[in-house]
Amino acid sequence: MIPAGRAPGDAGLKRWSAVPDAAGIKVLAYHWVDPEPGQKLRQWGVTPAAFEAQMTALAEGAYQVLSLEEVLQVVHGERPSSPKAVALTFDDGYRSLLDHALPVLERFGFRATFFLVSDRVGGTNAWDARHGDAPRSLMSWDEAAGLLARGMEIGAHSRTHPFLPDLPERELEDEIRRSKETIEDRLGCSVRFFSYPHGLIVERCRHSVMAAGYAGACSSQPGRNEPGTDPFVLRRTEITCHDTVRSFAFKVRTGFGVRKWAGTRIRDWFSRRSPVAREVSL
Ligand SMILES: [Zn+2]
Repeated sequence: MIPAGRAPGDAGLKRWSAVPDAAGIKVLAYHWVDPEPGQKLRQWGVTPAAFEAQMTALAEGAYQVLSLEEVLQVVHGERPSSPKAVALTFDDGYRSLLDHALPVLERFGFRATFFLVSDRVGGTNAWDARHGDAPRSLMSWDEAAGLLARGMEIGAHSRTHPFLPDLPERELEDEIRRSKETIEDRLGCSVRFFSYPHGLIVERCRHSVMAAGYAGACSSQPGRNEPGTDPFVLRRTEITCHDTVRSFAFKVRTGFGVRKWAGTRIRDWFSRRSPVAREVSL
């Protein structure tokens, strides 16, 4: 049921009908869903109304919502890849998600993965304090257990949300390995996926994630996940406060925002036409 006065989600998808659903699974990345968008960091949040409209668009567009485990099967070539499939992820574990995202996900029967910062569970996003926005509450262990009980998946997002590439080797490993162990101990679940804090990946981060026993990891690099995609650098498309249902639909179809998508198309075109340009693009 779509509230009066708001465009049905499918209308947004149909307006972009000239842009086909590109092959590959699009993994969508959210942070908070909150009526208080914040100031400096507002782009990382979406309002409850926007989130509801986006999930409505997925449902009306008959998109399949996969778990990350199913995305992994696709990249390993163990499951056919549908162009009309997405996965939903939420970084940091904000408490606002329980009130404003969970009921909508449940209404549509969508599963999602929530990435927790293990040493900050029940606290706030202290790592963002330098930006000056009011702190945001993070869910407690009991609340995270409630998500699991309702069929959601829990992943790890480090212990303290540091800039991983800046850390010495031992601290880097500790952030990645202990976050998995702590969440598994506290919730009694298996933590299969990691999300790189700040989206920062260097090879030794990727290596530590593999060594810690994760099955895969989410990056902040937009794009699509297809057979052969690196499971430890899964592509994710960030949904921000600037997204309308229309731009959301574009991201769901292509895995990119309009500007990034145009950039990739132009680069592909030049590299097909000119060996020199191909060299430059590499
Ligand atoms: Zn984060």
